[in-house]
Amino acid sequence: MQNHRGLQALRYAFSNLRRNWALFHQAVQMCRRSLYNKSGFSPTERSIMIEEDGKGKCEHCQQEFGYMLLHSGFGDLTYAYCDSCGKTAILSLWNQRMPRLPDCPGQREMCSAMEAYLKPCDCGGRFKTGSSPRCPHCREPLSAKLATAYLERNAPGSKKGWRWQQNWSDLYCIVIGEHRIADNFI
Ligand SMILES: [Zn+2]
Ligand SMILES: [Zn+2]
Repeated sequence: MQNHRGLQALRYAFSNLRRNWALFHQAVQMCRRSLYNKSGFSPTERSIMIEEDGKGKCEHCQQEFGYMLLHSGFGDLTYAYCDSCGKTAILSLWNQRMPRLPDCPGQREMCSAMEAYLKPCDCGGRFKTGSSPRCPHCREPLSAKLATAYLERNAPGSKKGWRWQQNWSDLYCIVIGEHRIADNFI
């Protein structure tokens, strides 16, 4: 009799556990979805963003655009810009399709050997080393040197001595607006 009641209690506790687990799982899914919906970025992408960095100004047409800086070391990624429209390709070093190339360390702009492993951009351009991000209005390439003015003005870290790298190839990459693609391996 005792055993029987024990078993019943156990069964009850177990069904509760299962229900709670389902609720917990549901809550996690809801959090993930709301994060994703907020910006259109996946949780992985959000985790590598350092700041929603505000507005930049094009030196060619003087129009403003939103941008985001990504720290390729925090995110363990490498990146490249489209040679035609300036879209940013963000490539995770943990992606299984990432080719293992010698002398291609990551945490900076990708090496040129990686170009052959990437799908072309939907604009018809290619992701090539040495390319620049571009103004979303006039499509002219943006100067990494002139970008210093707005990048350092908007970055809270500047007060503590953070300085923009002044090139489009070191640790930080930029996404102009939402002009980006992730892990576009062939
Ligand atoms: Zn493109
Ligand atoms: Zn422009």
